[in-house]
Amino acid sequence: MILETGGEPIKRSIGIFDISSRCPLRCNHCYYYTNIQEIPTELPDAIYLKKLKLVRDRYEIQSAFWVGGEPLLKLNLLREAIKLFPRNAIATSGILPIPEDLNASILISIDGSKAIHDSIRGKGLYAKTMKQIKKMPPKSFAIFTVLTSESIKQIEALPDLMDRTQAQGILVGFQVSGTNGSSQLKAESREMAVNLLLQLKIKTPEVLLNTEKSLELFRPSRQRAVEMNCIYKSSAISFDVRFKIKEPCTFEGNADCSSCGCPLVMIQEAKRRGDKESDILLHALFPNRINSMS
Ligand code: SF4
Ligand code: SF4
Repeated sequence: MILETGGEPIKRSIGIFDISSRCPLRCNHCYYYTNIQEIPTELPDAIYLKKLKLVRDRYEIQSAFWVGGEPLLKLNLLREAIKLFPRNAIATSGILPIPEDLNASILISIDGSKAIHDSIRGKGLYAKTMKQIKKMPPKSFAIFTVLTSESIKQIEALPDLMDRTQAQGILVGFQVSGTNGSSQLKAESREMAVNLLLQLKIKTPEVLLNTEKSLELFRPSRQRAVEMNCIYKSSAISFDVRFKIKEPCTFEGNADCSSCGCPLVMIQEAKRRGDKESDILLHALFPNRINSMS
């Protein structure tokens, strides 16, 4: 395990964990499989949990975000890992059954219409994910949509996606750099996409989970300020499956701070600037396990 050496441990309230290094998919926009040369091998569960407790205590991590690979491939481990943190969120492709009792907020990736989703993730995967979604209680999960040059044409169709899935809402982000470059948005397209998202937010506020203030921060002109205050500089830390710290953030070699696409970074920054709605949203995305159980 690589940990910072010397000096006092730095407190990080948010931990982003690759709990699995495997995923059955190979999406065009995946930051994970376009970045690593050699997929790190997973640790035995008992050792993973032991190391997890060490980093939790060292950095005083309160909120855990479980990503991958596909976290649900490690369901037994995930169940145990969640118990170690007051607040948890899981990002999944939704192609595996999603248990209802995970005590974490669930973000299921859908990239737009069937045609767009399947063109990015693979033929038949939209239907596969929708099949799992239909088994879930309405409003028990959120949709996570990564916008690419293809999918921004469908921003207006997001209300329909929400109706079809019965989700709590849709959280949008933008494709990160380094992945499939042809799908990445140019600055002017991103500006246009932010305008469309803001219009949608005003017209149908229940569809997008992103707050207005955090959407504004996706504008290319705001990226420098976002980078200066990125949560990975002060309050977040990301680990691979063997607890190597991912630098500068979970996107590692694909990180491009001049066009950051992570909605959590924008929401945290909006909160730091005093936006109450963003604060409320963060609490909803990382629900308190104790309170949510009561
Ligand atoms: S489901 Fe996620 S981890 Fe798997 S290939 Fe797609 S983007 Fe990457
Ligand atoms: S790319 Fe990574 S380090 Fe850069 S602003 Fe975004 S989250 Fe922060």
